[in-house]
Amino acid sequence: MINLTTENFLDLKYLATKVFSPISGFMVYDEYIKVVEEMQLLDKSIWTIPITLEVDNIKNYTVNKNYDLYYNNSLVGKIHIRDKFIIDDEQIYEIYQSKDHEHPGIKKEKLRSSHRVGGEIEIKEELIKNSLYKNIVKHEFALINQKVQTIAGFQTRNAIHKAHEYLQRLALEICDGLFINPLIGWKKKGDFTQEAVMGSYNKMSNEFYPKNRVFLRGLETRMYYAGPREAVFHALLRRNMGCTHFIIGRDHAGVKDYYGIYQAQELAKKLDKKYDLGIKLLLFKEPYYCIKCKQIVTQNTCDHYDTFRVAISGTEIRNALQNGIIPDEKFMRKEISEVLISLGKDNIFIRE
Ligand SMILES: [Zn+2]
Repeated sequence: MINLTTENFLDLKYLATKVFSPISGFMVYDEYIKVVEEMQLLDKSIWTIPITLEVDNIKNYTVNKNYDLYYNNSLVGKIHIRDKFIIDDEQIYEIYQSKDHEHPGIKKEKLRSSHRVGGEIEIKEELIKNSLYKNIVKHEFALINQKVQTIAGFQTRNAIHKAHEYLQRLALEICDGLFINPLIGWKKKGDFTQEAVMGSYNKMSNEFYPKNRVFLRGLETRMYYAGPREAVFHALLRRNMGCTHFIIGRDHAGVKDYYGIYQAQELAKKLDKKYDLGIKLLLFKEPYYCIKCKQIVTQNTCDHYDTFRVAISGTEIRNALQNGIIPDEKFMRKEISEVLISLGKDNIFIRE
């Protein structure tokens, strides 16, 4: 038997529901190394983040045998092991484009065993009944609004602020529908809690956005903080869910200054040009508040980037919220701040 971590269990669910399509099982070595080195699967389609299953020691497992998968002491599925291998640090560094063990993605990866097994999986049907699955977004939009043909996916790990609102409204001008899909798996200390993110978006969709054009649901997978590679990974997942467009903004899936602010857009654009990701990319510039224009703008719409720009500061928003103070309304809507503050200061950010 193999005991799954929460991250493995979530991967198992997305493998089974085809959200990770065309991958249908945990990766064998040949697949894994091709993803690490070339960002491709064996069939040459693009895939940027390896999906592997760790075990304590590969010596305890035999290739071509079936093993039960347990999560929280319950039997959840099976794996037919086709391959076993040990990964090394150089491969991890290649994925993250960094060797810094303080990088939150690398730090998380180093907590996993380097022993991995790959192969086909099965899952207990009842566990995926209410899960996201392939083409769910198309299906859900058809239920609420038959006219929605084009759907923009939006990835986030934050409570909604004015910069993200600006991007979402832009997407709603371009597409018929907007799928807001906040990540609710593992995130690092200091990030917004799931309650905070979903609470803020529930408020936004209920009170501000057109109900027949916006659909909100959590994405059950972990953050990697792998910047450019993770942006492409996020686009592929939304393609699989049925989105036609995907928004990539400033420093997508980045953390601190490990990646250049438009590096994720550049990688996604490059791979899409060469191989077609199967989803249209909406590559938006960073929104900021302009003191002269007196509104949220981007470099594409305002001439005062160097003179009157006020960056929408996550740190400033965080400090205010933690002290129970409504942040500047230029940065975050008062209604949203109130929802967050009402959670209590210990429940807004992940404390670990
Ligand atoms: Zn301006």
